[in-house]
Amino acid sequence: MDVPLVVRWIFEHALRNHASRPIVSREDDGSIVRLTYADFGRRVAQLAGALVEAGIRPGDRVASFGWNSHRHLELYFAVPMIGAVLHTTNIRLFPEQVCWAFEHAGDRLIFVDGSLAPAVERALATKPDFRRPFVVMGPSSASLPDAQDYEAMLARQPDRFDWPELDERSGAILCYTSATTGDPKGVVFTHRSTVLHAFAGGLADALGVRQRDTVMPVVPMFHVNAWGIPFLAPMVGAKLVMPGNRLDPASLIELIEGEGVTISLGVPTVWLAVRDELEKRDLRLPTLHTLVIGGSAVPPSLFDDLERRGIRTVHAWGMTEMSPIGTVSRVHADLEGEPWEKQRDVLLKQGRFTPLVAWKILDDDGRAVPHDGRTAGQLWVRGPAVTGSYYRTGAALPVFDAEGYFATGDVCTIDEFGYLHIVDRSKDLVKSGGEWISSVDLENTIMGHPSVREAAVIGLAHLKWVERPVAVVALREGAALDEPSLQAWLGERLVKWQIPDRVLFVDAIPRTGVGKFLKRELRERYRDLLI
Ligand code: AMP
Repeated sequence: MDVPLVVRWIFEHALRNHASRPIVSREDDGSIVRLTYADFGRRVAQLAGALVEAGIRPGDRVASFGWNSHRHLELYFAVPMIGAVLHTTNIRLFPEQVCWAFEHAGDRLIFVDGSLAPAVERALATKPDFRRPFVVMGPSSASLPDAQDYEAMLARQPDRFDWPELDERSGAILCYTSATTGDPKGVVFTHRSTVLHAFAGGLADALGVRQRDTVMPVVPMFHVNAWGIPFLAPMVGAKLVMPGNRLDPASLIELIEGEGVTISLGVPTVWLAVRDELEKRDLRLPTLHTLVIGGSAVPPSLFDDLERRGIRTVHAWGMTEMSPIGTVSRVHADLEGEPWEKQRDVLLKQGRFTPLVAWKILDDDGRAVPHDGRTAGQLWVRGPAVTGSYYRTGAALPVFDAEGYFATGDVCTIDEFGYLHIVDRSKDLVKSGGEWISSVDLENTIMGHPSVREAAVIGLAHLKWVERPVAVVALREGAALDEPSLQAWLGERLVKWQIPDRVLFVDAIPRTGVGKFLKRELRERYRDLLI
């Protein structure tokens, strides 16, 4: 049957087949809300009624500005299922950028978590002529103009909704890339791409989420759909745990222990902090069998420390333009039974491609690189969950080649087993005297030092070598380390020209709204350091 692939498939399947499964959500005040998928379904219908009453029509954009919560999940379904598009706004944007994003997206109604209303208030102060209706979710200390209360809106509505038939190619969710460079670029995920991505991401050799799992997405719902978990978990009927605004290690550990979380997902920074806390308290988390880590490369030291505590890190790579998952690292069948060191080597790579991603890795002359795990080239991808354009960006188009492949901008190798290894973003490579230095490798080596918490490596202008690496380092709590000792320690592990010319110690490394190192800012801050 030619039946459209729409988000409603996932929703109705969850209600009919997983009705009793729980959704647990932490409120801003720390209290816990418990729902079943059946309760969730009724609330989604009420929300849809409220959206229509507020005048939202098919094709309209509706913004969310929120943490991971059951209400955000309700928006994820109600908005697309009435034919509108949910714009998941990045809550870590600067105040001036927040109104830019609302305006660029053309949002007609904006849903804000109570605890984030002050942030939106600050954003509005930068743009006094900005007028949009708001809906506030949960108690709030700030008063937004023209705001309604979420729960009151829902309470007025029936818990059934007559869902419209939709074209699978219509937009479901709009998300802006985290933009380490230039203006943010919007990517619209369609119903079709969202459903296909959920299927591919859910496979056992991908995220491998099952009904019996308890999944806690720490990766935010304001950034590429929390890697698809809000669709994947209801599809398989997994218990969902939403951590709300408390992302400190103690709160996350409390939820993992209290709710029996089996799979959690997030960027390395979150798990570095959790690792430190586990080590400090000498704690194990027996229920947690899988930590999916991506967004940036997994530091090997983090992988090893978690492994020692019985937690398997599953490394994943992707990008906003890919919905986002592209690769996931699991042990290849041909490597089962091989020594641990060999398995560890591939698990530290970004992983193998999910089924709906066609790929090629080309060198500077456009030739496919050999699958030797050594020769690097640029990665190009194609598939039904890869974007074909950016939203309203005029000239800024994604780069495609003649075969319709999209240029990821990631430089990588591929080995004989099909494991992708990201060597660098093309712009993050340091080119010293004609030799490329991988900032990722260097960062990983530095993060292997027992006193180092995090390290970002940037290339700075140098009169003799054109560019030389400089490391910006944050130390672990209570640790002491100076520049010469770290350079000496690196001297035992690296060839001389790879050792950073300078090591700068900072309390925290600046990050983008989604936790990637803000290297542009570091490069600007230290621009003339070596000249
Ligand atoms: P974004 O669209 O903001 O999610 O950023 C996507 C980019 O993040 C990719 O193109 C990579 O450069 C980087 N990235 C994502 N996951 C990983 C990973 N596991 N290892 C290294 N880089 C990653």
